[in-house]
Amino acid sequence: MKKILTIGEVLVEIIATDRGNGFRSAVPLVGPFPSGAPAIFIDQVGKLGHPCAIISAVGDDDFGWVNTERLKTDGVDISGINVIAGGTTGSAFVRYREDGSRAFVFNIRHSACGTIELTDAAKQLVAEASHLHVMGTSLYAPSVIETVLSSMHAIKARGGTVSFDPNLRPEILNSPGMREALQSVIAETDLFLPSGDELYLFASARTEEAAVQELLAKGVKAIVLKQGAAGATYYDAKGSLTRPSMKVEEVDPTGAGDCFGATFVTLWLEGETPQTALRYANAAGALAVTKTGPMEGASSRTEIDTFLAA
Ligand code: ATP
Ligand code: MG
Repeated sequence: MKKILTIGEVLVEIIATDRGNGFRSAVPLVGPFPSGAPAIFIDQVGKLGHPCAIISAVGDDDFGWVNTERLKTDGVDISGINVIAGGTTGSAFVRYREDGSRAFVFNIRHSACGTIELTDAAKQLVAEASHLHVMGTSLYAPSVIETVLSSMHAIKARGGTVSFDPNLRPEILNSPGMREALQSVIAETDLFLPSGDELYLFASARTEEAAVQELLAKGVKAIVLKQGAAGATYYDAKGSLTRPSMKVEEVDPTGAGDCFGATFVTLWLEGETPQTALRYANAAGALAVTKTGPMEGASSRTEIDTFLAA
């Protein structure tokens, strides 16, 4: 089976339990939950029982432990997570506003994963991987950009594939070098997984159909457009396929895109049809929103099958 690799931030997430605008006064909190978009993605791949690994860095603190224990338990190869003595694991505080949008306070660039370099163990993972998943959020610091781009070039040069979820947060869009790095990644992307308006990040067209054609002409082989509670649409050179989302009670939408993406990528690499991959990914995304905590809603194949059968 094709081993799936991702590279990027490992964080804990701490969530305000009431809604409101940001963190300018004391609010009740719950956490730490294991988090970081690439970590959530790879945890979902691990729960599906597919070989996978992550390259990252954490501190030798409880926040790092919360993540490494969860990822290991769920089947992720964590040999590429550098545990930095005296380092501090990254964190994200999130509070939902009344309108459902999210306010974040991030500590990423100055945390342990502010620097991600290729250790010997990480180089070994790059050598073994046949697929790399890139999260746009992970292009937040120069060393991380260099590690992602050099690994991507190595994996592509061997005939491997790349999937890419821009996953952009306005809070980090202006990180130094991020915009250029995003362009390098889209140029080598096989499977593109934007959410909503992220479809237009790398296209001059302003309609969905024209943007899709422009991306396919650039060499992207397939696109899956995530539309939250409205479901998702798959596009390739042969046409398109839309599936509505599955009815669930939304408790916490964070991580839905990552669980959806991980499930789609895994089934796509396993040779399933786009129909089947989309069906399972929609189920994984729906299950993800039913739990508080970004990684808490990742599900096993059996859980997805049971949910689909119900
Ligand atoms: P993230 O916040 O994790 O970055 P995203 O914006 O990348 O999310 P979304 O479009 O929000 O991704 O969600 C991904 C998929 O999860 C959707 O296409 C859908 O299949 C499923 N999903 C999301 N929200 C819901 C919901 N409220 N009910 C059912 N399914 C949902
Ligand atoms: Mg997303």
